[in-house]
Amino acid sequence: MTAALLDPYEHRDSGIAAFASESVVIVDRDGQVRYWNPAAERLFGWPELAVRGCKLAALSPTPVDEERAWSQLMQEGSWQGRIGRYARDGDIVYADVRRHLRYDAAGEHCDTLEFALPASGQGEAGLVSDRIMAACWEIDISPASEIVSRIVARAGLAAKGELEDLFLNLVEAARIVEVNERTARLVGGNRGRALMVGQSVAVFWPFGSRRILAELILEAMGDETGKTFHRRIPTDGILRDPIVSLWRADAGRPGHLFIAVNGAADDDRSYLYLRASEARYRKLIDYMPVALWQVDASHMGKIYAKLRAEGVVDFSRYLEQHPQLVEHAAASVPVTDVNRSAIELIGGAGPHDLIQPVGYLFVESPASLRRVMVGRFTGRRNYSEFMKVRTLDGRVRDVRFSVTYPEPLVELDTTIFSMEDVTERLQMEAQLRQLQADFSHAARVSTLGELATSIAHEVNQPLAAIVTNAETSLRWLARDEPDIAKVGQLTARIAASARRADGIVQRVRGMAAKQAPDPVELSFNDIVQESLLFIRHELETRSVRVSTSFARGLPSVFGDRIQLQQVIVNMLINAAQAVERCDHAAREITIATASEKSGNLLFTLRDRGPGIAPEHLARIFDGFFTTKDQGMGIGLAICHSIVVAHGGQISAFNRPGGGAEFRVVLPRTRGLAAAGPVYA
Ligand code: ADP
Repeated sequence: MTAALLDPYEHRDSGIAAFASESVVIVDRDGQVRYWNPAAERLFGWPELAVRGCKLAALSPTPVDEERAWSQLMQEGSWQGRIGRYARDGDIVYADVRRHLRYDAAGEHCDTLEFALPASGQGEAGLVSDRIMAACWEIDISPASEIVSRIVARAGLAAKGELEDLFLNLVEAARIVEVNERTARLVGGNRGRALMVGQSVAVFWPFGSRRILAELILEAMGDETGKTFHRRIPTDGILRDPIVSLWRADAGRPGHLFIAVNGAADDDRSYLYLRASEARYRKLIDYMPVALWQVDASHMGKIYAKLRAEGVVDFSRYLEQHPQLVEHAAASVPVTDVNRSAIELIGGAGPHDLIQPVGYLFVESPASLRRVMVGRFTGRRNYSEFMKVRTLDGRVRDVRFSVTYPEPLVELDTTIFSMEDVTERLQMEAQLRQLQADFSHAARVSTLGELATSIAHEVNQPLAAIVTNAETSLRWLARDEPDIAKVGQLTARIAASARRADGIVQRVRGMAAKQAPDPVELSFNDIVQESLLFIRHELETRSVRVSTSFARGLPSVFGDRIQLQQVIVNMLINAAQAVERCDHAAREITIATASEKSGNLLFTLRDRGPGIAPEHLARIFDGFFTTKDQGMGIGLAICHSIVVAHGGQISAFNRPGGGAEFRVVLPRTRGLAAAGPVYA
């Protein structure tokens, strides 16, 4: 057996020694017990809790022999022989032991390993010897000393009911000093040892056997010999035929008592199997890369059942009207366990910092807790959303938060919370979005550069009209009899031309402005028409005709106006360039909008140009792919990224009769909005 298998101080409970049928004890250099496995508990009757830190030699009925054995061990490194040891009930247990010294990396003796088996021929007898020691408690009854004296004084005199109450008060006043891990699991509902320590014994002791415990306490307090008292208690559903043993701690700890609960022997194996598989799962869960919280919301379940019985249906509304119920949950639903990733995410020195009511998880997103509660109320199996969580040192993290609710009819009412830290991912996505926006802005500006001549011409036209009309007006005014009516007409035309020029300038400014995408609900037909206005002159100068077919009653799309215009303008420019060198008859672009059967929106653009070489078809949406001398190869790449960012698809084909066809599919408003993440 190697040291790693018996890593005694760090992983005492998952160590293989916990499952050994041989007694395994580790004693440090000062002779104090550091580890005592369940088989040692069984053989000698002492629970680990009671002997850890005690001198092993103190349990020897023959100290001189014991000392000799230890000095031989020190000289030879190992020792083998028969020893006697005081068992808890005062009997002497004989065992065949092997002891080995262990050394640290520097070669120094660090501790001693003792293996022991019952000495052959020695039968195990008595009430508890053949049993597995399941749970062990150290309790302090000094806060109950007054109740003890009252019971002693009233014994035989008091009415039965009065005494009954005093017994219950006694268990309530007794405090838990320490429990072993098995106790925490068996009776503490996995609330965690830390939460049991310091609490009243009554909170965790099975209700039906409180009176028995009180009687045992009284018996032990009336005894000065250090005897152990045993009583059977009703089964708690976990242990078969449990027996409670109770004895007073040594004089150094006045008012302290030890309680051990032992189950029938054939529970031994199944208990150890259970323990082994539980240990495996615990380990697995502990090392999972996702932060996990185990939460006990059982008492909320009862409140929900009551509300349901009272006829509450819209629980979300109910919580809005009764915010105190959310506050109650935050303050009273305890976290019962957490794994390492949870501690890494939230911070803290250990699990204890996180084992407290769940409220601390929702300080940044109080509405999330409400939604978690609504999920449970409405009988969901799980629920998930993005939210913000505050770490113990005050940082705020973005997390994907999921809840798995307990299955109905399963006895253990445990809810699991999980959190995945997505802060970095969200930051990266934001950076990427910014980069895409910058890129598409750059592309727009470069398109404007290409269109500069057309734009200048477009603005010049109304300006020239303004000048002509203004000069004519002046002439009409200069006459001896100015024709005011004529001047009025001309001034109206001047105003119209000025508005047209302003419209063009606004469109150019929209394209040139660097602004964050601003998704709103839009009419796609409007976007196509605005795009056509934008490059109307460009198309005219190349003698390219555009025939349009706008479907009526199209669903609206959710998106950024300028970016979607950019997609259409880019495709129109490409098509115009493609047909430019063709015959006049072929210089035609056909565009159409339609709604697909699925409700999505379809935009098609066809030209009668040379089409796309088949070997290029797969590459035209790649960045910097171009077949043009002056081309940059970013137009279609930008179209692709804008369409994808809008939840849509863009594709290109060659038409059977010649020419290229581009298709853009965009989801209708509801589809896109529902696909977006939900932020609290
Ligand atoms: P650029 O126009 O600068 O080359 P794009 O990304 O807009 O960049 O287009 C990439 C390539 O796709 C073009 O070089 C061309 O080969 C091809 N292409 C785009 N539109 C058409 C079209 N309507 N007909 C034929 N080829 C096209």
